[in-house]
Amino acid sequence: MIPFQNTCPYETIRGDIYISSCPFCGADNVRLPLRKDDLAPIRDGRKRLIVFPCCHEKITAIDADADYLLADRPVRANPTNDW
Ligand SMILES: [Zn+2]
Repeated sequence: MIPFQNTCPYETIRGDIYISSCPFCGADNVRLPLRKDDLAPIRDGRKRLIVFPCCHEKITAIDADADYLLADRPVRANPTNDW
């Protein structure tokens, strides 16, 4: 069972991965140091460290699907938010 608060919704724009809002510092439209091509190995079980460029917080992506990255720790500041 995947903990909901560990999921991070992302968007793909021209091969780059963006999140609409940083869960750690609240920055808008953060481009992650990750390409769309990097998602396949994550899906295959290869862990991937991601450093947020806005605040240098780190997460490890342990899985991904078409809409969400799954992190090794909570990435939703407030789980009761109406995502
Ligand atoms: Zn940030």
